[in-house]
Amino acid sequence: MKCPYCDTEMLKGDLYGNRVELKWVAKDAHKGIMHALISGGCPKIETYKCILCNKFISDIPVDGL
Ligand SMILES: [Zn+2]
Repeated sequence: MKCPYCDTEMLKGDLYGNRVELKWVAKDAHKGIMHALISGGCPKIETYKCILCNKFISDIPVDGL
């Protein structure tokens, strides 16, 4: 996915929420120990990140609408 601000290819990852903070993890890091520690039991949404603009783009779940 291209960033709508700078047209750079964005990094694909997942955004995890645990009521305290949001944490974005790159898809490439999903097999690492950090991923196992962060993702345990946390809801997540697939999110693209632009490293130049520091922007996130996510598909927001629409359950219940
Ligand atoms: Zn950008």
